[in-house]
Parts: sequence; structure tokens; C-alpha cells
Amino acid sequence: MGVRLSPKWGVNPTITTCWYCGKESGLALLGRVGENRAKEMGWEKPYEGAPYDVKAPRFTCLGPAYPCEECEKAMKIGVMLISITNDSKPPTATDEGSITRSGAIAIVSDDFVKEAFGDLAESALKRRFSFVTDKAWDTLGLPRGEIESSPSSLSEFLFLSKLDEKGIKHPDGSPHSWEKGKIEEIDLGGDVELKELRDKFVAEIA
Ligand SMILES: [Zn+2]
Repeated sequence: MGVRLSPKWGVNPTITTCWYCGKESGLALLGRVGENRAKEMGWEKPYEGAPYDVKAPRFTCLGPAYPCEECEKAMKIGVMLISITNDSKPPTATDEGSITRSGAIAIVSDDFVKEAFGDLAESALKRRFSFVTDKAWDTLGLPRGEIESSPSSLSEFLFLSKLDEKGIKHPDGSPHSWEKGKIEEIDLGGDVELKELRDKFVAEIA
């Protein structure tokens, strides 16, 4: 598995970042990269060295198909929710939309998704992640924790209940308010309110 060296940039390295958590996930040695490939990689113009020998940017986000190890692990045991601002526009078939992340990430159980997402649960469960607007995030009482921008390790993610039989505690050892069982204590009201809440929430999920 060799790298075709770039005459100008040598191994032409880029630090790969995870689309989900934003963390650095590795280093890729790309060698010679043409303009089309640069476009595919989502690099920003202007391409230095275009069209045949483009210089790799310092960071390249690998996109949703390549979660970092920790996010991959997290999305096997739960569904990742990523908070976005209320004015974010979800992408459609014809429009890229504009999503502004607001910094919170939570891993919730499949059961939580089934309960809260209603008709959208199926696709969220399949994708293993979903954007959630801040308003819906707070309506559901999802945790914001002390995450400033993006978590730096899996242990910094906040877990909701039912992830496993043992339950998961906050990494500092303190019984975290979202440990196992807590979800049952969220006041969702009676069935009627729950349905209303769900309808409202579903409408606000990107
Ligand atoms: Zn990640």
C-alpha cells in the first residue's frame, strides 16, 4: 500500500477529524491529490497546487461515513444526539441546508429514541445519530454538562440510562444525574401530554 508522492508536497499529510465529535481521529498521508479528489474530500478553495497537485489542508473532516473509534463505539451502544441551534435548517434532497451545532452531545438508549422520536425513531435508530434543536433538547431535558465545544474522549460523553445492565456513572465517580434509571423520572406527564410533547419534539428534530 504505497503513497504516490506529490512532487511538491511529498507525503502530503492531513490530520483527519471526526464528523460527529470534531476530534482528531488520525493522520492520512495522501501524496499527490488532483483537484477532483480535493473537491470530493470537501477541501476549501483555493486549492494550492491545483489542478494536479493540491496541497492537503491541515485538517480534513472525514464525513459521517467515518466516525472516530470512540464515536463508533458509542453509536454501537446507543444513539448519538447532537444539539443544533433552533434556526438550523435540515438538509433536503435539493438543498444542503445549514446546520449550526451548539455543542452538546448525548448518547441515549434505543428505548429513549423509540419513546421520544415517534415516527422518526426508525431512521434515527438506523443512522445511530440525530440532530436535535436546542429547544427540543431542553424540552426533553437532555444534559448539556460541562462540554465546552466537543468532548475529547468517550468518557466525557454523557450517557443516559438503559445503556447496559450495569449502568454508567460519570467518569469522576460521582453518581451522575443521568445514570441508569433516571430516564423514568423525567416528567413526561400523562399519555396525552407525552403524545403532544412527542409531536412537538418530532417537529423540531432536523
Ligand atoms: Zn468522534
